[in-house]
Amino acid sequence: DRLKDSKVYMRALFDYIPLEDKATPCQEAGLPFKRGDILQVVTQDDHTWWQAKRVGDSNLRAGLIPSKQFQERPQTTTKRSGLRRSFRLSRKDRQGPSGEGSDPGDSDFLTYEEVTRYQQRPNERPRLVVLIGSLGARINELKQRVIAENTHRFAVAVPHTTRPKKSHEKEGVEYHFVTKQQFDADALNNKFIEHGEYKENQYGTSIEAIRSVQAKNKMCVVDVQPEVSTSCLMYIQMCHTIITCHEPQIMRAGSSDVAAALPLHQEGENLQEMRQSAIQIDQQYGHLVDRVLIKEDSASACAELRGILERLERESFWVPISWVR
Ligand code: 5GP
Repeated sequence: DRLKDSKVYMRALFDYIPLEDKATPCQEAGLPFKRGDILQVVTQDDHTWWQAKRVGDSNLRAGLIPSKQFQERPQTTTKRSGLRRSFRLSRKDRQGPSGEGSDPGDSDFLTYEEVTRYQQRPNERPRLVVLIGSLGARINELKQRVIAENTHRFAVAVPHTTRPKKSHEKEGVEYHFVTKQQFDADALNNKFIEHGEYKENQYGTSIEAIRSVQAKNKMCVVDVQPEVSTSCLMYIQMCHTIITCHEPQIMRAGSSDVAAALPLHQEGENLQEMRQSAIQIDQQYGHLVDRVLIKEDSASACAELRGILERLERESFWVPISWVR
C-alpha cells in the first residue's frame, strides 16, 4: 500500500514475453520487457498483475506485468510456470554508498529490483567502476589505455602481487610488490577486496588502494576477470557501476544479449571458451550490470568506455533504492 499510486520504478531482472505467458488474463494487454529494462509501475492494486510502462517508451499506455509476488511463486505449484523461471541466484545484492544492502527478501528468485534516479553530488566520493571482462576481451589493456588518456580524472587501484618486479616496473606504480608471506598475511587480515592466482603468483587489490584513488578525487576503475579472481562480489558491494565487456564474435549479431549467443560447433575451441566465459558472467552478474560494452576493435572500445565514464560523471542513472535511503 505504501507504493500505491506512487512513482515506483523497477529494474526488470528477467525477460518477459506476454505472448508466451499462459497465465496472463489478456496476452494483448501484456507489456513485454527484457532483463535490464526500467519499468515504471503505475499500479500495484492487483496482487498478481501490475500495470507498468517501460521507461523510454513513447507508448503512453500501460501494460500488464506479473507482480513480484506472482513471479516469485515457487514453480512447482503450477504447470504453466515454464515461464516463471526467474534467475535463481545466491543472495548477493549490491550495496549502496551507505553500505546498506537492499533487501532481497526471503526468495532467491530475482525478479524486480526497485530503483531510483541517482546523480553524484559534487562533494561525494567519486565512483568506483568495475569492469568485468570475459575471456579474450583483454579488459585490462582497455582500462589502462582509457586511464592513460585521462590521468587527472580516472585512475586504477594499484594491485599487490607476489611476482617478481620487471625491470621497467616501479614499486607502487604497476603493482605493490610483496613477498608471499606478506601477501598471505594481508589476505588473512581481509586487506584485499579481491584476490586470485595467476601462473603461480598471487595478485590482489586492497580496499586501501581504491580509497587512495578516491581520496585524490578521481574515479577509480578496476577490472575483474572472473577466471582469475576469487570473487568480485565485494567490488560489487562497494561499486557504483558495472560494465561488462565481451568480444563481438560471441554475441548474436546486433544483440547485446550474451545468453542469446548461439553455440556453433564448428568453431575453434577458443571461441567456445570465450563464449562460455561470457555466458557465465551473464548468469552470475548480468542482473547487476549497468552497461555492456561490445569490443569491436581497440580504438572503438576505448572511445566507448571513455564515453561511458564521462557520462557517469555528468548524468543521473538508475540505482537500487537502498543506495539513497
Ligand atoms: P602480469 O603479471 O602480466 O602483470 O599480470 C598477469 C595477470 O594477473 C593479469 O592478466 C591479471 O589476470 C592478473 N592480475 C593483475 N592484477 C590483479 C588483481 O588485482 N587481482 C587479480 N585477481 N588478478 C590480477
